[in-house]
Amino acid sequence: MSKNFETQAVRIQTERSQFSEHSTPLYLTSSFVFDDAEDMRASFAEEKPRNLYSRFSNPNTTEFVDKIVAMEGAEAGYAFATGMGAVFSTFAALLSAGDHIVSSRSVFGSTHSLFTKYLPKWNIETSYFKVNELDKVESLIQPNTKILYAESPTNPAVDILDLEALSQIAKKNNLLLVIDNCFATPYLQNPIKFGADLVIHSATKLIDGQGRVLGGVTVGKAELIKEIYLFSRNTGPAMSPFNAWVLSKSLETLAVRVDKHCQNALKVAQFLEAHPAVNFVKYPFLPSHPQYEVAKKQMKLGGNIVAFEIKGGIEAGRKFLNKIKLCSLSANLGDSRTIVTHPASTTHSKLSEEDRLEVGITDGLVRSSIGLEFVDDVIEDLKQALEV
Ligand SMILES: *Cc1c(COP(=O)(O)O)cnc(C)c1O
Repeated sequence: MSKNFETQAVRIQTERSQFSEHSTPLYLTSSFVFDDAEDMRASFAEEKPRNLYSRFSNPNTTEFVDKIVAMEGAEAGYAFATGMGAVFSTFAALLSAGDHIVSSRSVFGSTHSLFTKYLPKWNIETSYFKVNELDKVESLIQPNTKILYAESPTNPAVDILDLEALSQIAKKNNLLLVIDNCFATPYLQNPIKFGADLVIHSATKLIDGQGRVLGGVTVGKAELIKEIYLFSRNTGPAMSPFNAWVLSKSLETLAVRVDKHCQNALKVAQFLEAHPAVNFVKYPFLPSHPQYEVAKKQMKLGGNIVAFEIKGGIEAGRKFLNKIKLCSLSANLGDSRTIVTHPASTTHSKLSEEDRLEVGITDGLVRSSIGLEFVDDVIEDLKQALEV
């Protein structure tokens, strides 16, 4: 098999059945059959690799995982019902009571809840560093620290963390480096190349790309994935074969879709940067981004999320949302449809102003997930919504 991304995305495929189908069919089956007692014994003893039960594996989930493993340069992986299923199962499988995590403060909201509300039930605590304070990471490490965790680019402020620098800290201190690579997709950034041990995706976002199904996946070192697999096959967060079938087809078009998303997002970012009603724009591939050089080093293109601050604070942000006509107001991202959100008045309104600022959410910050519409139509909509 070719090592080229697009070829792997299209050609990694479940073995053909006796019907010689061209496109992988949907294997909606909860279990699989055995020839005889010996076949069943050997299968359950894991003497032969095969499907037993779809909570463990299924041809559709295996095809999806095989593609992500190839795209990320990983050794193995496991697919989950949601991105949060992947995040939780990864921590739950690898940590014991009393362990400690060091994490970037700018993590997905539910991941933050996992760290602050749920893992402490098992006496697993998390210490946070700010995205621009990598020099403080080592001071947070304790004898019981096991995992160093980060997302890049971050949600919703689109900050960039230096993956190579994080990996050096992890290696020096014998920690596992786990990266949520959701915003970049396997097409734009491969954290394993920079030293990550495990990579997590919410497949719900750009991997699906059309706002249809939920999914998650963790890939990385085989010995770690084995623990995650054994935990998951017993606890039940598996991806459904239907979602895996949808997502594996989505991967066939990931490269062309993400190229176009990035091209559109850059144009939108450039438009916004020149607009008088906008204080600043954060887009990884704009030279004005504070971590532009790091973004260029570790990402192929800038992604589809553009953050920008409207002059006038919370009220201006709400007014902007109300004037939007074409774009959607929705909590999702990475959809073919452009989405805008105003975190300070919606998703993050329960946080104190101080906590919001910790993760880069200023009052007028808007997060836009640029879609695949004709880009001038998106720009036209943003332009009329920014008029005062
Ligand atoms: C959406 C998201 C998740 C959670 O994924 P779900 O599929 O919604 O469970 C995790 N991390 C990041 C960065 C996300 O954007």
